[in-house]
Amino acid sequence: MADECLFCKIAKQEIPVKFVYESPEIVAFRDINPQAPTHILIIPRQHVPSLSHATDAAMVGRLSLAAAEIAKSEGIAESGYRVVMNTNKDAGQTVFHVHLHLLGGRHMAWPPG
Ligand code: 5GP
Ligand code: ZN
Repeated sequence: MADECLFCKIAKQEIPVKFVYESPEIVAFRDINPQAPTHILIIPRQHVPSLSHATDAAMVGRLSLAAAEIAKSEGIAESGYRVVMNTNKDAGQTVFHVHLHLLGGRHMAWPPG
């Protein structure tokens, strides 16, 4: 339910969180439990539970372009970064409002764990 959704509350600033990026469609903020020196979550303002529910190609594309822009402003564009969209149980999705993780500032192994 969008009413109960943590990230909807953050997007509406019902829970005060500092945005590192915002546009009419998207907001981005630092992960509360960072897994890298830079770990930012990029979300649509609109409630969509996961990538599997997404139908708006422009919105999904803009999340990625926002990640590239934020990577530049965070100073990790040249050194490198990873964007991840965990989807459902096997991928470890815990918040069911679609979000893109932007991670950088350290070397990352491949394949992911
Ligand atoms: P997921 O596991 O669904 O891919 O990612 C959810 C992310 O949201 C996790 O990395 C977790 O640390 C982050 N998170 C959960 N609750 C909060 C919160 O209240 N504030 C912020 N900034 N991040 C949160
Ligand atoms: Zn939501």
